[in-house]
Amino acid sequence: MNTLQNRLDEAGRIVFLTGAGISTESGIPDFRSANGLYSDPANLNIFDISAFLADPRPFYRFAARFLKVMENALPTRAHRAIARLQGSHDVTVVTQNIDDLHQRAGSRTVWSVHGTLAFSRCVKCGHRLATSELHPIIRRGEVPYHACGGFYKPEVTFFGESLPQTDWLNSQKAIEEADLLCVVGSSLVVYPAAALPGYRRRGCTLVIVNREPTPLDPEADLVIRGDAGEIFKNIK
Ligand code: NAD
Repeated sequence: MNTLQNRLDEAGRIVFLTGAGISTESGIPDFRSANGLYSDPANLNIFDISAFLADPRPFYRFAARFLKVMENALPTRAHRAIARLQGSHDVTVVTQNIDDLHQRAGSRTVWSVHGTLAFSRCVKCGHRLATSELHPIIRRGEVPYHACGGFYKPEVTFFGESLPQTDWLNSQKAIEEADLLCVVGSSLVVYPAAALPGYRRRGCTLVIVNREPTPLDPEADLVIRGDAGEIFKNIK
């Protein structure tokens, strides 16, 4: 942890690349841990765009349960430490998460490469609204429909969709300019997000904080295996 603090202190521009593992302490499960969302085979196609467009009911049955978990979730010690570091460093957050916990912790520059649950769009006419307007319907496990007859889809990137271009290009640029890239709570197996560390320049320090090994560990300057909350709790 001292080494992590020293590496952060030495860096001017820091980018945090975060995944579902930074949020598990808040009660939101990740995908690939033993008790993650994918441990239930019924969830395997939940975020598949073809399956969703063919029949949105399984997604919204899942969403009814997921919404309760999301509503009770609070930023973790790691989210809060990353927000604190803005006081002394140039910090950019690139997140694969859709839970908005970085923003709620106070991080100002957050690029969400897999979109956000905060807004939804009608798949037929494109009508956009705050997903909170649909919460009463989603809580009942029903599919929310627009007046045009189309159903709504949250603005998160499903498997089979392309990523939001502005967030992707800004993430790439921030990583190209970083002195230190710190990956927190990502298995680094979901592409194209897992390719983002490849944009770091020569000389950029790579730190990986994760419970389990990742394919990028051999390239990292520092690998810390453990719970992100514990590791970041005293970081200033
Ligand atoms: P992943 O599930 O593939 O990997 C999560 C990693 O975090 C695992 O390697 C696990 O060992 C590690 N981990 C779990 N808890 C941890 C903790 N407390 N401290 C440190 N490490 C911990 O997640 P991913 O790489 O983000 O990719 C999965 C996709 O799932 C992403 O695209 C993301 O959009 C989506 N997702 C998001 C959320 C969310 O918004 N909170 C939740 C589930 C899935």
